[in-house]
Amino acid sequence: EALLERVQQVEPQINSLITITAERARQAAEVADERIRSGNCGPLTGVPIVHKDIFCTEGVATTCGSRMLANFEAPYNATVVERLAEAGAVVLGKANMDEFAMGSSNETSYFGPVRNPWDLDAVPGGSSGGSAAAVAARLVPAATGTDTGGSIRQPAALSGVCGLKPTYGRVSRYGMIAFASSLDQGGAFARTAEDLALMLGAMAGFDPRDSTSVDHVVPDYTEGLNRSIRGVKVGVPAQFFGTGLDADVRSRVEAALEVLQGEGAELIEVDLPNMDLALPAYYVIAPAEASSNLARYDGVRYGHRCADPQGLEDLYKRTRAEGFGEEVKRRILVGTYALSAGYYDAYYRKAQQIRRLVADDFSQALEKVDVIAGPTAPTPAFDIGERSDDPVQMYLSDMYTLAVNLAGLPGMSIPAGFSRGRPVGLQLIGGHFDEVRLLNVAHKYQ
Ligand code: GLN
Repeated sequence: EALLERVQQVEPQINSLITITAERARQAAEVADERIRSGNCGPLTGVPIVHKDIFCTEGVATTCGSRMLANFEAPYNATVVERLAEAGAVVLGKANMDEFAMGSSNETSYFGPVRNPWDLDAVPGGSSGGSAAAVAARLVPAATGTDTGGSIRQPAALSGVCGLKPTYGRVSRYGMIAFASSLDQGGAFARTAEDLALMLGAMAGFDPRDSTSVDHVVPDYTEGLNRSIRGVKVGVPAQFFGTGLDADVRSRVEAALEVLQGEGAELIEVDLPNMDLALPAYYVIAPAEASSNLARYDGVRYGHRCADPQGLEDLYKRTRAEGFGEEVKRRILVGTYALSAGYYDAYYRKAQQIRRLVADDFSQALEKVDVIAGPTAPTPAFDIGERSDDPVQMYLSDMYTLAVNLAGLPGMSIPAGFSRGRPVGLQLIGGHFDEVRLLNVAHKYQ
């Protein structure tokens, strides 16, 4: 009740939620109370959360931040939603997001921009900006998100909270609306690494309904948190500290690295020579997959449908013209172009080859070190409107996060101080399925 009241007070200023599910939350809280009384409970029983509005929830709208799905009610729950419900989490609402998770500022949402709770003139980051802002504004202690190229880590950094993108395949994508399927991965936001460990423990695991879900044992993510990080090798790539990095962010991140060193970690220079190719490769692969995934929004099966269609082609054209926003259309155009006969080899195949090089760079670096550290984003949160007319500037906010998705590795962002009153994030990247280590390093830092 206290948090629902806080939602009423704070939401008019930050707009972090698309749907508030107060009644359902009260019912879930009663069930949780009962479970706690009977001793049939776990660490998340009764804990209030919000879900990014990309996760399908039965009986409640799932909009994906788009007019196309503004009235869509999924007939089933995403696996993530199901698992967190089984763990007893109480869902207060569905979080605002960039349309179809395309964006880095939450300004492409059909439901309006989200404001950064630390500074209402600033963006919260994106695409999971509503989830990050809801945790930052203390509406909920934890939230779900998804990360295709940085959409958990970058908003976590800009909003001053912790965010974890697990290894690709660790968390089921079933019922998570697809953007770029080979990159999309569900994860979570919270205030501490310890809370993230609890969230991941509930969300992770094999799911036969997602063919890319990996059948790999789910460890107790809280167990290793307190382990000493003496002797842990932290790789610092020069490529994370080159042009484009704000001087203040740089000094905050360097100070954070010193803290790790103070805990006994060993800082080691590593090389990621193809890092600068990750952004162009991502912006071929992600739009290509998106153009294919978004073909399903045709006005026939579900979602928005234009009025009075004059034949099938008119139905498709007007439905998609009306239902999708600018950025989504840009991605569909770019992706369709890159996949066209005659261009496929020059763009899509080339991008896939670069993806391999980027992944190999990480594998080589991770043979020498246990984790890689650097800034999450090159600058602190920018002003609302500042980059919305310049897609390339916007894309650059993910210059340190995209490569991690190309390689399928786990990554997290943890708060590392402030610059000009706005939060700065430290990014930690680990080997496949080494979330335990990331959480341990983050916990020791905190
Ligand atoms: N900002 C990146 C994009 O727009 C990443 C988005 C994401 O991770 N969902 O594609």
